[in-house]
Amino acid sequence: MPVTAVTEVPVSEIFSSLQGEGTLVGRRQVFIRLAGCNLNCAYCDTACDCGPHCNVYCGGCSIAPYRLDNPLQIAQVMTAVTGLLTATPHHSCSITGGEPLLHAAVLEKLLPQLTALVPVQLETNGTLAAELERVLPWLRWVSMDIKLESVTAAPTPWVQHGDFLRLAAKVNCAVKLVIGPATTDAELEQATRLMAATAPQVTVIIQPLTSNGRSAVSAMRLLQCQQLMTTFLTDVRIIPQTHQFLSAP
Ligand code: SF4
Repeated sequence: MPVTAVTEVPVSEIFSSLQGEGTLVGRRQVFIRLAGCNLNCAYCDTACDCGPHCNVYCGGCSIAPYRLDNPLQIAQVMTAVTGLLTATPHHSCSITGGEPLLHAAVLEKLLPQLTALVPVQLETNGTLAAELERVLPWLRWVSMDIKLESVTAAPTPWVQHGDFLRLAAKVNCAVKLVIGPATTDAELEQATRLMAATAPQVTVIIQPLTSNGRSAVSAMRLLQCQQLMTTFLTDVRIIPQTHQFLSAP
């Protein structure tokens, strides 16, 4: 469906659940998943295209699931989020995707209203620095990726990641590296050099690919990767996708 105004945005889903990754792991958040992405990672498990409806639901609370027609007006997003925030206490809100910064123009209008209710985390692939600059003042946390070719099957956008990290490091920023069995020391060394030169204080999350509910990378290899990166960086953590271990309701 065409998006015709900067007050409209395609949204895949708005829901309440726990954060399964990164530095806010385990926190209860409202998630706003915006549609569309500028990358095409081989391991992607997210439906980036937007359907005709946005699904709104709340894990473990009394709100019955409902649907809204896409694209959504900013006021509709705020009403849905407010309903979830009212139903049960939340730590924060996560704007995720897809790549949410594709919708920076709408976020510029949404975030002042949203941050009046709840602190906001942005989950991003870390490639759209100019768009980040437009919304950075409203963000409490930024979780950005460095996309390694060994897992995405596309060349790593090193320059874009560097430009992005330079800005993101102005707030609470964590860099997530998804690694797989084919990830090389050379890739990790290049990522380490980039972070050490740009934002050595940044928190780094090594996240193994998940396959059939298990880490696709051995514990020994994960520890080797952490050791390699800790030579130049101070805060390197290994955190698998914890929500993969939860059973369906
Ligand atoms: S950046 Fe994220 S949403 Fe986009 S294709 Fe890659 S994994 Fe999927």
